[in-house]
Amino acid sequence: MLDPVAPTPSPPLTGIRGWLIDAPEFGKLRSWPDGAIVLEGGLIVEIGDYMTLSKKPRPQPIRWQHSERVAVFPGLIDLHTHAPQYPSVARGTSELLPWLRQHVFPVERDFTGPRGRREAAAFIAEVARHGTTTAMLYTAIYEDSCDAIFQAAAERGLRVIAGKMMMDVGSYGAHQPSKILSISLTETERLIKKWHRANDGLIEYAVSPRFAVSCSERLMRSAAEIAQNHGTYVQTHLAENREEIEKVRHQFPQAQDYTDVYARAGLLGPRTVLGHCLHLSPREHEAIASSGAAIAHCPTANLFLRSGILPLDIVRGAGIPVGLGSDVAAGAELNLWRVMRGAVESQTARSFYEASPPLTPAGSLHLATQGAADALGKGRTIGSFDIGKEADLTVMDLGPMLPYRTKGASDLNADDVVSLCVYRGGPEAVVESYVRGRSVYSAPAPELF
Ligand SMILES: [Zn+2]
Repeated sequence: MLDPVAPTPSPPLTGIRGWLIDAPEFGKLRSWPDGAIVLEGGLIVEIGDYMTLSKKPRPQPIRWQHSERVAVFPGLIDLHTHAPQYPSVARGTSELLPWLRQHVFPVERDFTGPRGRREAAAFIAEVARHGTTTAMLYTAIYEDSCDAIFQAAAERGLRVIAGKMMMDVGSYGAHQPSKILSISLTETERLIKKWHRANDGLIEYAVSPRFAVSCSERLMRSAAEIAQNHGTYVQTHLAENREEIEKVRHQFPQAQDYTDVYARAGLLGPRTVLGHCLHLSPREHEAIASSGAAIAHCPTANLFLRSGILPLDIVRGAGIPVGLGSDVAAGAELNLWRVMRGAVESQTARSFYEASPPLTPAGSLHLATQGAADALGKGRTIGSFDIGKEADLTVMDLGPMLPYRTKGASDLNADDVVSLCVYRGGPEAVVESYVRGRSVYSAPAPELF
């Protein structure tokens, strides 16, 4: 006689213990010291004090991870970065256009074939190591460069929105100029069919015309049509640098301003993320706000290339959603805590010469989490600790950030912890990160000797 088959035990619930801190509203924090999140099926199903949740009677046990010694934040979101450019971080001293020619196009040109695949995997691993759970990024002009990034992101489980770089004016590719446009459109559509909403929706496509300087009007119109037809995101750069703006004025004399170039091509909409947007008129702010497009603010990149400082309160006041981007390699680091610090410090610098409010560390955390999620139209899915949201989390060890005279985190409040992370946080303090409840990065155990 056969033994009766034992019922399969249902998988245990997962609980994450730590000092939970999120910023669902700009400038305000919520905090659960020694708090806990219970996850089920990748979603947040309970949130509260660890003592209460751990003692609650339940039909199945909770598998607890981490301790009261870590801080847990919503997963960090990098709204603008460039995978092929990582090898050229911190290179050069020029402004945008000569820097692109001297330091960026040469590394983008090589981001293909076996080397492209190797670097794509390394780049995605680096993004995860920095505690970033969602990244919106550009690849190189090659179809295989985009394939490689999506493949690496799918294997890692990261949330990635990306697109093949599109440019048909002054491009670095080997194709004949007359064929660049049609090849670029064909490859973009093929990539969308293969990858858009792949890996259970964690991967999405962003149609990615570089910027108006390197795109014909035909390319931009066709790109907008493709994005519209397939419901993808659009990403491009806008008004980063004065020389760039001058060039666009000459290339597109029929447009009333730079923003109008994109509006006329049909590129502005609620699924559009515009990098930089430093030098815009009130009319342009209004046009962007009414289209529903968002801004990826990249403060470290803006300082590195001497591009300028975003009038943050003005663009937010105009009703434009804003998130933060590392903009590697114009930004020297993928570390979003460093980008938050750059945002805080650049707004402080701006306040020295014009009446403008400071940005607090809490405000910058909002921009890197809920603000960026809102910019992507994902504000109800990720960005804060709310029941029913997907569990994208970044777990930080406060130890490496505390100065030696501080006994521990016991004398800190939530604002202090966020400030500590913004001013001193980095990959060495990232313990683990999760996307939809699944671990996508776990720090190696410390060496004993
Ligand atoms: Zn960029």
